[in-house]
Amino acid sequence: MPLYEYRCPACGVFEALRSMGAAGAEQACPGCGAPARRLMSAPGLSRTGSAAARLIERTEATASEPGVVAAPPPGPRTGPRRSTNPLHRRLPRP
Ligand SMILES: [Zn+2]
Repeated sequence: MPLYEYRCPACGVFEALRSMGAAGAEQACPGCGAPARRLMSAPGLSRTGSAAARLIERTEATASEPGVVAAPPPGPRTGPRRSTNPLHRRLPRP
């Protein structure tokens, strides 16, 4: 649910969690009960700096700036991949 900001003429700015359909242009102030007008503000950017946001940014960056490696990743496999299915040995070879 998005967080909306309202400004009461007497008490100042307050925030209210409302569903998109239920967020009206005016909201009763929780302090004095007077009608408060909704403010236009930037959407909440709570993911900025989190591990999930860094992963998403790095993944998107690889599309235009792929990482350069000097060697294949270390691992036990050195040769071509061999099938363990015995039927594959009966296939014609090049
Ligand atoms: Zn108020």
